[in-house]
Amino acid sequence: MSPPDPTAAIARIPLGHLPTPLEPMERLSAHLGGPALYIKRDDCTGLGLGGNKVRKLEFLLAAAEAKRADTLVTAGVIQSNHIRQTAAAAARRGLACHLVLMEGRVGMASPEYLAGGNLLLDRLFGATLHRHPWTGDRNGAIAALMARLAAEGRKPAFIPYGGSSALGALGYVRAAHELLAQARALGIGFDAIVHASGSAGTQAGLAAGLALLAPEVALIGIDIDAEPGRVRADVTRLAGAGYGQPTDAMLEAVGLAARLEGLVLDPVYSGKGLAGLIALVRAGRFARDARLCFIHTGGAPALFAYRDLFAP
Ligand SMILES: *Cc1c(COP(=O)(O)O)cnc(C)c1O
Repeated sequence: MSPPDPTAAIARIPLGHLPTPLEPMERLSAHLGGPALYIKRDDCTGLGLGGNKVRKLEFLLAAAEAKRADTLVTAGVIQSNHIRQTAAAAARRGLACHLVLMEGRVGMASPEYLAGGNLLLDRLFGATLHRHPWTGDRNGAIAALMARLAAEGRKPAFIPYGGSSALGALGYVRAAHELLAQARALGIGFDAIVHASGSAGTQAGLAAGLALLAPEVALIGIDIDAEPGRVRADVTRLAGAGYGQPTDAMLEAVGLAARLEGLVLDPVYSGKGLAGLIALVRAGRFARDARLCFIHTGGAPALFAYRDLFAP
């Protein structure tokens, strides 16, 4: 018998196409010579082109609306997937949306980076954009915007960076329950679950969900600020690689997923997450007959902002 969803009693507004599919990656598994790789398609959560933030926003919006908020405020870098999914959620719920866009964290200056990809979609969803330098007092800028909106008679709710708070992380407690139920239906168990980790809400939720429901499954979050592999990470950190900076391992992973599986990863998160998984497989971290699940956390719209990396 399946255990109940641990988040069932907590208010949630359904926004996503859930459950997302769980699929085998047979050609990528064969290419790497084992273990058996599966992919959980959280790029297919639907709303606003989907991604992992939709699951968090289901809980965050329920709390905001319970407090009668009429305006969402959030912040992130120019090509933030979180910002884009928040703008789409606001549109869907009839809420105003103000976005604080941090400029200059990623040293990209192409027209595609500065106006395409996620930013094009933020505008399309009708959000109001506010620009702020990454190096400035970001939280002060957000507080000032919240105060100004309140003074204008609005009821703003702040959605945390990346949707990552204890409440937002419940989206991934629920995802752990969903994934385990799908695995059970297929008659399989996973040795490890691997995903890209940024603001850590995804990892925190999965860690809590697995601790409760399947403590035997290992959880591996790949830090997307650095190149996978400790030594290479040290080297690339010295060379200045970090958030949003392309790496060779990411380019290889994005290419393999596309050519072997017809999958679209992104250069900032899911490409680096899969690169981390591939590096661990090649380093012999898993038994050949192990079963691994990679969670595709979305982000494909950012691919178009990095056009020159893939289609020079
Ligand atoms: C935000 C994001 C992540 C990281 O999720 P966190 O919960 O912030 O750690 C991974 N992949 C994509 C595509 C994202 O947009």
